[in-house]
Amino acid sequence: MDSWYLDNLVCPRDHEALQFKSDKLICPHQHRYPVVNGVPVMLLDGIDQTLHVAEQSMVQAQIGAGPDGWYIDSVGLNAQEQAEIGKLALQPGRKIDPVVAYLVGATNGIAYRHLLGRLDRYPIPHLRLPAGQGRTLLDVGCNWGRWSVAAARKGYQVIGIDPSLGAIMAARRVARELGLNIHFIVGDARHLPLRTATLDTTFSYSVLQHFSRTDAATAVSEMGRVLHAKGTSFVQMPTKWGVRCLYHQARRQFREPTGFDVRYYSLGELLALFGNGVGRTQVSVDCFLGIGLQPSDWDLMSWKGKVAIVVSEVLRFFSRALAPLRYLADSVYLTSLKV
Ligand SMILES: [Zn+2]
Repeated sequence: MDSWYLDNLVCPRDHEALQFKSDKLICPHQHRYPVVNGVPVMLLDGIDQTLHVAEQSMVQAQIGAGPDGWYIDSVGLNAQEQAEIGKLALQPGRKIDPVVAYLVGATNGIAYRHLLGRLDRYPIPHLRLPAGQGRTLLDVGCNWGRWSVAAARKGYQVIGIDPSLGAIMAARRVARELGLNIHFIVGDARHLPLRTATLDTTFSYSVLQHFSRTDAATAVSEMGRVLHAKGTSFVQMPTKWGVRCLYHQARRQFREPTGFDVRYYSLGELLALFGNGVGRTQVSVDCFLGIGLQPSDWDLMSWKGKVAIVVSEVLRFFSRALAPLRYLADSVYLTSLKV
């Protein structure tokens, strides 16, 4: 396997160094993690997982990819979508990876639903961070790697981590296709298999809102742990009072969220969450009127999506000077500085 993993990964249980023996990474306490086609699977068995696909990832790490070679059972798509992927794979002249062609429905939000199976390019967003200049960036919950690709193109040395083995394998195919060197790991945001105080940047988009509040706090603390002093955490979260977010909460009659349901935090709660887990935190707007609207995907959007992007970008511009506008944003970034 790539020696980078041996130099940089540690046991997620006790942070001890690892040795590679007969397709496994093993720590001095004999915790073992399978390596599947060069990708380490650093999930912890015997605990509640953040996503059901984590259990499938551990099973597929043992039994293999399946006939299609995609580890499809751990991707988190339903049987119909899996069948469509099989059909798309046989189409001559298709432009993007068939698994990613359907994963965008899970990763990019409802504005992309009409594009399932029909994309002719990868929707790579614009990363609102300065140029990487070789700094490290950990993309937590990277899925098929759209933000990992965006960060690598911006000059970061990227590590992508996700509990889905199938999504990580898709991410690796995409990165290779685009000529980018990104290190992908199957792992749990609450138990990062990375050394303490070694990274420059941690990033996450549309991930932690699906965790219970306890799990989200643990994951944010883990991001704080792996950052070195003066490192930056940059994380997107939805808000409690955003117009679209209020609509979603009303639709579920403001009941207590469970499982994969989105947890909506107030800006005060977000500042406390990241302030406690990482360090001094500031809020900036990602978008209004929805979650995950990306101006970089203008050409892919329906007319409704285009209108939402224009309104959102105008409001975002004004929110820089007019701070109270931030309270109406549906999606915000928390920028935290590790002290
Ligand atoms: Zn261990």
